[in-house]
Amino acid sequence: MPSEKYKGYRGKSRACLKSFSVGVWYDVEIDSTRGKFKGIILPRSETADSKHIVLKLRNGYNVGLAVDTIKDIKELGHKEAHYKIPEKKFPYNPGKPSVKLLGTGGTIASRLDYRTGAVIPAFSPGELYSSVPELAEICNLETEKLYGVFSENMGPEQWIGTALAIGKEIERGVDGIVIGHGTDTMHHTAAILSFMVQDSPIPIVMVGSQRSSDRPSSDAAINLINATRSAGIGDIAEVMVCMFGPTSDQYGLLHRGTRVRKMHSSYRSTFRTIGDIPLAMVDRNRFIHLRKDYKKRRKDRNVKINAVFDDRVAIVYYYPNMKPDIIEALIDNGYKGIVIAGTGLGHVNKPLYPVLKRASKNGVHIYMTVQTLWGYVQMYVYDTGRDLMDLGVIPAANMLPEVAYVKLGWALGQSTDREKVKEIMLTPVAGEITEREPHNGYLIFQGGIPEVDKFISSLKK
Ligand code: ASP
Repeated sequence: MPSEKYKGYRGKSRACLKSFSVGVWYDVEIDSTRGKFKGIILPRSETADSKHIVLKLRNGYNVGLAVDTIKDIKELGHKEAHYKIPEKKFPYNPGKPSVKLLGTGGTIASRLDYRTGAVIPAFSPGELYSSVPELAEICNLETEKLYGVFSENMGPEQWIGTALAIGKEIERGVDGIVIGHGTDTMHHTAAILSFMVQDSPIPIVMVGSQRSSDRPSSDAAINLINATRSAGIGDIAEVMVCMFGPTSDQYGLLHRGTRVRKMHSSYRSTFRTIGDIPLAMVDRNRFIHLRKDYKKRRKDRNVKINAVFDDRVAIVYYYPNMKPDIIEALIDNGYKGIVIAGTGLGHVNKPLYPVLKRASKNGVHIYMTVQTLWGYVQMYVYDTGRDLMDLGVIPAANMLPEVAYVKLGWALGQSTDREKVKEIMLTPVAGEITEREPHNGYLIFQGGIPEVDKFISSLKK
């Protein structure tokens, strides 16, 4: 018997498979104390535990069943899955716009690697065309893999590399750029690219997916189609995020890169514009612009690339009873900038005042943002706010904390002069500070409240 039959299974789990005469890639029905499960037994990684058997269920989800709960395993068949995506040549049509897809990694560029059970990147125009043929109806697509990382591993080096790659593509004459990216930190990258790449003549559209393309509920294809349309034929020439609008696949939303945030750990409709309304809705047939104040596509190639970043910056998320040693550590370790996400209108407790004063005296640039995400820092309302400003803390209006963080790193990459940095921070570049937040920008549905439930059910057909 080839050892592949029990790939990755050791100890108890291997013995269990043996006792029921099944192995990996067997289509089975498992009767357990948790109920009956039908699916394919997946191989496990060498580092996995030896107490579970992992099944790929019919609905695409994976489930790990503890060996101790298994009463019986019946073989239904045996089919090895082939997950190599066939390469098809992406067709060229001189009448279509050219779009460059820059890949950085994340779930959008992934498929399941059944050897390790992990999600791994797989990415080329040929693979994309064979999985999402609609892309050829939109544009002539070229791809380049800049990185292959999950987005928690994106940082200044990759941000700078991506900004420079965007500059090169704009100069080369492409009509639009799509950036494939993990969703977890897409809003950080969208914000820093909004600062590093200014006055782009073409759309720069970031896209990702919450569910990998081997799952029936994947949002990868639709997001990619919407993003590619926005980049190829859309007229908004800004750095944007294009992802699922509602929880179903009716349309995608285009969010401004400095006002967007991932707001749900698993919903496909996770990205929301904060403190404003989104730029537009996009689906396979049309664009619906939701606002007029956007930068339009141009024919010239006059983009400004300013790809600098000083990474000695940190976000401090204030919590009650925070101790000064947190800030001490930042000063002592040579941090040059601190963005505080403060409570309410922008507060921290009194015990932090002396250390903030010390930080300021040491030349650390300190900016205040709000944890509430919606609304402005207002430090004139209470004495405590005024006290903080006297200590050198600068209010950052309605910049989101992550946006202020990347902007401060970018500003410190250009100057260390307090006034100059302040001027850069407080002069809006790409909508990161707005004059007012629209009344319909703030909207949180709370299910359970009668009038909200009534409204939601009126939308369901
Ligand atoms: N952890 C992944 C990432 O951000 C999730 C995703 O791609 O959606 O890279």
